[in-house]
Amino acid sequence: MARVNLDGKTIPMLAICMIGGGGFIGSHLCEKLMAETNHKAVVVDVSSDKIIHLLDRSLPWAHRIEFHQLNIKSDSRLETLIKSSDLTINLAAICTPADYNTRPLDTIFSNFIDAIPVIKYCTENKKRLIHFSTCEVYGKTIGSFLPEEFRKDPKYFILKEDESPCIFGPIDKQRWSYACAKQMTDRLIYAEHAENGLQFTIVRPYNWIGPRMDFIPGVDGPSDGVPRVLACFSNSLLRGEPLKLVDGGESQRTFLYIKDAIDAVALMIDNPERANGYIFNVGNPDNEVSVKELAELMIKAYAKVSGVPASSLSTVNVSAQDFYGKGYDDSDRRIPDMTIITRQLAWKPRTPLDELLDVTIQYQHRTYSRAMERELSKPSN
Ligand code: NAD
Ligand code: UDP
Repeated sequence: MARVNLDGKTIPMLAICMIGGGGFIGSHLCEKLMAETNHKAVVVDVSSDKIIHLLDRSLPWAHRIEFHQLNIKSDSRLETLIKSSDLTINLAAICTPADYNTRPLDTIFSNFIDAIPVIKYCTENKKRLIHFSTCEVYGKTIGSFLPEEFRKDPKYFILKEDESPCIFGPIDKQRWSYACAKQMTDRLIYAEHAENGLQFTIVRPYNWIGPRMDFIPGVDGPSDGVPRVLACFSNSLLRGEPLKLVDGGESQRTFLYIKDAIDAVALMIDNPERANGYIFNVGNPDNEVSVKELAELMIKAYAKVSGVPASSLSTVNVSAQDFYGKGYDDSDRRIPDMTIITRQLAWKPRTPLDELLDVTIQYQHRTYSRAMERELSKPSN
């Protein structure tokens, strides 16, 4: 039976050029596209490790997925791939905070300069673009600058796509190189739309987490690498080391389960008339915790799946300077306003934090505990 969109229209089969489609979000999107739609995925990435399970030629969707190993910084095949697709989704980015202040040039090039040709090819070839921005473009909340008594007023901390300002720290706080580059890309896309008619949708993920996020240092990533918080905490749990709370873990985040998030992206793909021209916050405002609370929840969840007593797992405070080095700064709080996505796409997140942590930690334990045992039994130099 033909699939229909929110307006009852038959959904045409699309060829989707997914740049950076071999990463965490891309891998989950590919799974959904293959299992539940008849769209074709033309995946462009430097690595296929996270989608390798989808690329076996004996799978029923083998004719609907192709992988092109290329670096978009320097490959002339990119324009042809965009030109021959109906829709481009740009996910390619350096997006781990530990890189923002230590590799600011790579961060700015990846999140701004490298996106320019993608946007240009979409405009020139009249192709629709779904671009991945970030909730980090809002920076710090207005509330963080106000006395305590004002901070409880939602108008000082709820982040709205069409109203909230973007508040970054000074230039020597290089943490903001990512947010600033992403913001510039959002502005370029918006300007291409305004002046040249580019059909765009901008997605602002709010801490999407789940299986296959980032890497575990020393197991499937560099031993001195620092991934995002979910993988940092998983790494410490697997090693039986204390979870490190940067500056006491007081910053707050809202976490969204990757599967809920992918449902929102699928709605954007299949409902262009409702999604074109919009910037969408995609997050779960009900899943807010401080980083310290996240650590406590992850300890509980890990104790359940591993049998390791929670009493033997702990946290330790570290300064941002020691953990990330010079130039780190932080977003204090990120709560998405959901008005636009609810109105346009009737999307709502479903998975509560404890449930999504259970599923994710079961995955981390299943995937990494053996490899970690081998890693820990190696003689240290
Ligand atoms: P990810 O690092 O897992 O995926 C990014 C992919 O892009 C990687 O597979 C990487 O190899 C690829 N890539 C980077 N540079 C490339 C290049 N020059 N050529 C080809 N491929 C390249 O990250 P993710 O979590 O899947 O994030 C995807 C997008 O969503 C990013 O733009 C990120 O900024 C944005 N985002 C994600 C979150 C989140 O919660 N996961 C939050 C905010 C923003
Ligand atoms: N963080 C932490 N310990 C870690 C890793 C991260 O306390 O081992 C904190 C970090 O300082 C930030 C929050 O966790 O306040 C979320 O960090 P993440 O890297 O996931 O990305 P962000 O949400 O800042 O983009």
